[in-house]
Amino acid sequence: MAQILHERGFEKEAKLRYECKGFNCAPGATSCCCRCFLFNQPDFVQVESVFKTVCCAKGVQVLFLPKFHCELNFIEQCWGRTKRVYHQLPASTKEADLEKNVVEALSSVPLELMYATRSLRFIDAYQKGLDGKQAAWAAKKYHGHRILPPSILQEFYEAQAEATHHCDSIQVSPIHSL
Ligand SMILES: [Zn+2]
Repeated sequence: MAQILHERGFEKEAKLRYECKGFNCAPGATSCCCRCFLFNQPDFVQVESVFKTVCCAKGVQVLFLPKFHCELNFIEQCWGRTKRVYHQLPASTKEADLEKNVVEALSSVPLELMYATRSLRFIDAYQKGLDGKQAAWAAKKYHGHRILPPSILQEFYEAQAEATHHCDSIQVSPIHSL
């Protein structure tokens, strides 16, 4: 790594230690070690993933979503509805019945109901500065709306204050619930 940095003209950085112990660089650090400095170079940071390159070459658009945020991925919500419908169908041990149930459950998700609106509400909530709990509350309150009012955070605090006044806690449904 030091040689690569040297070849790129980063003489000072080439003299840094090879890497921080256990790859544990300080948060936000960009030049604590050779590894960190190199990994923060524009041509390293901006390299497109092989996955995206291959998909784009085949004309497939790739949209990366944050990890652990299934509420932003409306496909996850379609699966959720499909599973719920599937469980309501009559149980069977026959493969033909099970296949029929799977098709019926998948078909039960109407195209116009693909939950994109719910995901958009969450995206809008996060953009307005709400955290997960607040966003789940807002998404439920403004069911059917694509975006939330600009005053949504204020509304949350008022609802929370009201709930506290009544010795109750604000009711928030889990993000996964449909
Ligand atoms: Zn480091």
